[in-house]
Amino acid sequence: MAAAAHHPRIKIMTCSQVVAVEEASSRFEVHVRQQPRYVIADDCIGCRKCEYACPVLVPHDFEGGLGARKAIYVPFSNALPQIALLDVENCTFCGACARACPTNAIDYLQEPESVVLDVGTIIVATGIRLTPAEQAERYGAGKLRNVMSALAMERLLAPHGPYGRVLRPSDGRIPDSVGYVLCAGSRDQSLKQGEGVSWCSRVCCMYSIKQAMLLSGTLPLVMITLYYMDIRAFGKGFEQFYQNARAMGIEFVKGRVASIEEDADANPIVRIEDLEKDGRVGEHRHDLVVLAPGIVPAWDPSRVLGIATGSDGFVATTRPLLSPCGTTQEGIFVAGAGAGPKDIPDSIVEAGAAAMEAANYLRASCGESRSIPKSLTQQLVGA
Ligand SMILES: Cc1cc2nc3c(=O)[nH]c(=O)nc-3n(C[C@H](O)[C@H](O)[C@H](O)COP(=O)(O)OP(=O)(O)OC[C@H]3O[C@@H](n4cnc5c(N)ncnc54)[C@H](O)[C@@H]3O)c2cc1C
Ligand code: SF4
Ligand code: SF4
Repeated sequence: MAAAAHHPRIKIMTCSQVVAVEEASSRFEVHVRQQPRYVIADDCIGCRKCEYACPVLVPHDFEGGLGARKAIYVPFSNALPQIALLDVENCTFCGACARACPTNAIDYLQEPESVVLDVGTIIVATGIRLTPAEQAERYGAGKLRNVMSALAMERLLAPHGPYGRVLRPSDGRIPDSVGYVLCAGSRDQSLKQGEGVSWCSRVCCMYSIKQAMLLSGTLPLVMITLYYMDIRAFGKGFEQFYQNARAMGIEFVKGRVASIEEDADANPIVRIEDLEKDGRVGEHRHDLVVLAPGIVPAWDPSRVLGIATGSDGFVATTRPLLSPCGTTQEGIFVAGAGAGPKDIPDSIVEAGAAAMEAANYLRASCGESRSIPKSLTQQLVGA
């Protein structure tokens, strides 16, 4: 991220939204709306004095709602750029931040700005979001205090996480027993009146096993159980990783979790039909339960970019074998999880492929098409 931010030919526009794209003679006119930060970017030195002075505390979305942030804040410890952002929805306009700022960078009167960019090609990399907690009503997400999403657990395990260690939210106790519910939003259309996601999220099996192993390292005495339908350890070395987790004593229970309720001490109780015990229904009490939610696209590009999406909403790739990053619109490419759930290595490989396809498209559209083949993939297929 830092390398990109400091690259002389890469410009990162934060707080920005692409609102319209017009095509004209093989180029694109991109209309961007930049939301105000209420902080003058060129004057802010990222000292955070405004943040310390602000009296307003709100749940921190970056920490999965577990920690708190101020109404003016640097979004997270390695955010780029390292400058403050004022959340106008929660600000009381008390003026404490402006008084604390050593460079007079706060500007409560900033207005949105419109920027028009002239570009030769576009790569869509808008990624994923998780299915909302309320969708998994029967798992108690969003209601039971010690049932959290895997993204929140990522933050608990992070060195700069909300508590600095793994604690359960209801009472700050170190958990002795943690349960993971896989496919808690994916491969299940029964969730919330048929709005569940039918496809596999592809990364949940492996990130849950990864988290379980990290938890075992952080809390050596913790008992961890993964409830799963089947483990999809599809990638290089993944099966070995899964077997290592079993060998470390992490328990795997095959079955479908029916519901999660809590007892008087806020301990989640997982009710499951255990397929390896003749389908007998069992109840397992944990200190903490982590849900692996479904994965859906973060953004629908069809209205703004005019490119097609599949029935799942992810960007459609028209020739997946020949041009894996090509979309239905010439000159617009897709990379990463915006085209379908995938892990980081696959997203990075695809980003490289999209960059090559975009570079070839640019060269061709600049009039060099006679000497340079249209796309790298065609070149490879030809060879
Ligand atoms: C809990 C969890 C744990 C995971 N752990 C691992 C792991 O250990 N290893 C691994 O390989 N993978 C892991 N993954 C998968 C990993 O998160 C994805 O592979 C990766 O995030 C995909 O990268 P991406 O850049 O394609 O999309 P994203 O990371 O989703 O990035 C997309 C970006 O686009 C921005 N965006 C979206 N819409 C717009 C818009 N309209 N305008 C401007 N910006 C927009 C978003 O804000 C976001 O910053 C995990 C996933 C989850 C949910
Ligand atoms: S003006 Fe708003 S952001 Fe600044 S200190 Fe007061 S509440 Fe916080
Ligand atoms: S707005 Fe002012 S006080 Fe806040 S981080 Fe920037 S320079 Fe520091």
